[in-house]
Amino acid sequence: MYEGIVQDLIDELGRLPGVGPKSAQRIAFHIVQTQNFDVSRLARILLDVRDKVRFCQYCGNVAEEVTCHICADPDRDTTLICVVEEPKDVAAIERTHEYNGRYHVLGGAISPIDGIGPDQLNIRSLMPRLESGEVVEVIIATDPNLEGDATASYLSRLLVAMGVRVSRLASGLPVGGDLEYADEVTLGRAFAGRRIIGGE
Ligand SMILES: [Zn+2]
Repeated sequence: MYEGIVQDLIDELGRLPGVGPKSAQRIAFHIVQTQNFDVSRLARILLDVRDKVRFCQYCGNVAEEVTCHICADPDRDTTLICVVEEPKDVAAIERTHEYNGRYHVLGGAISPIDGIGPDQLNIRSLMPRLESGEVVEVIIATDPNLEGDATASYLSRLLVAMGVRVSRLASGLPVGGDLEYADEVTLGRAFAGRRIIGGE
C-alpha cells in the first residue's frame, strides 16, 4: 500500500481489463516519476473518448458519428455482413484486407456463467438489416472458443430459419483464443476458406 492518491491511481488502473496489480503499479509510477509524461494530454483524450465515441446505429461498431466509417463507405459490399463479438475483431479482420463487406458487432458472446444470453447482445438490430433481402451471406466470425461457438450456433439457427445463407470462418484459428490473437495471414486464410453452414 502506498500513500493516498498514489494508491488511488494504482487501484483505478488495476480495475482496467488486462492490468494486473504489478502492471498497475508500474504504470502508476511511470506517470508519477516521468518528468515529460503528458498527463493533461492523456486526461484530455480520456475525456474526449468518453464524450465523442459512440456506437454505430447500424452495426454497433465504435464510431464518432451516428454511423461508423465502414457503414458510411459506399464502396463496401452491402451483400455481406460479418458478425463479430467486439470492435477489436473488426480491426483484426480489416488488417487482413480479405473482406470488403460490412460488420455487425454483438458486444460480447453468449456465456450463461456470466449471465450473458442473446438478449444482452446486440442481436435484435441485426434482423432489420436482413429484411430488404440485399444481404446474401452472413459470415459468423465469433471467437474460436466455447462462448464463440455457442453464439455461432445460436445465430446460425436463427438466421437459417430466416432463409439467410450463413458461413463460419474456416478452422485453423488458434482454438480457445480470441480472434485478435490470430496473425493476419491465418485470419485472412480462415476468411477466404469460410464454409457455408446453413441456408441455400
Ligand atoms: Zn457501422
